Amino acid sequence: MYPIPIHNLIRAFATLPGVGQRTAERFVFHLLKSGKKDAAELTVALKNLIETVKSCEICWDFSDRSPCAICLDKKRDPTMLCIVQESQDAATIERTGQYTGRYHILRGLLTPDDEETMHKTKIPELFERIATQTSPIREIILALNPNLAGETTMMFLEKKCKAINPTLTISRLARGLPMGADLQYADDITLGSALKHRQVS
Ligand SMILES: [Zn+2]
Repeated sequence: MYPIPIHNLIRAFATLPGVGQRTAERFVFHLLKSGKKDAAELTVALKNLIETVKSCEICWDFSDRSPCAICLDKKRDPTMLCIVQESQDAATIERTGQYTGRYHILRGLLTPDDEETMHKTKIPELFERIATQTSPIREIILALNPNLAGETTMMFLEKKCKAINPTLTISRLARGLPMGADLQYADDITLGSALKHRQVS
């Protein structure tokens, strides 16, 4: 059994996604061995994170201000919304430099067969936004992961968003086989989608 401060920090690290007991132990003993400097930097970075990062009240991205820079940017089309699961997905799309609209971060997906799980996400806030935004939203791009929860959520959103505004254009990211993929190893969803969204060359 480790001394209590060591045990407590191991337990705290082990709650992070992808970090098990062994990795948490490695983190803690690395910090102990590297002296006080690394631990002090980590403490300051964590304190800044907690004190300065907030949620954008419009798109629910994490930002150092609310509304965030994208929601305030007059050059970004407010009538086009890209719906993503997490902040990192929006950052990935931003890196392409191809998208000039705005975002809505769901912070989770529906559990299949349980529409009530939408209350654990920012889906109700999305419906509110579509119903009330001053510059009316014309197009929604559903950019969720093509797994069971992602598909369930996209189908639910298509139905409900259309009910709020029947003139909305709703699109999905075109999906297909990645470069270098081998057909026989492609999963059913990817291959089915590649067929459905095939392009005439
Ligand atoms: Zn925002």
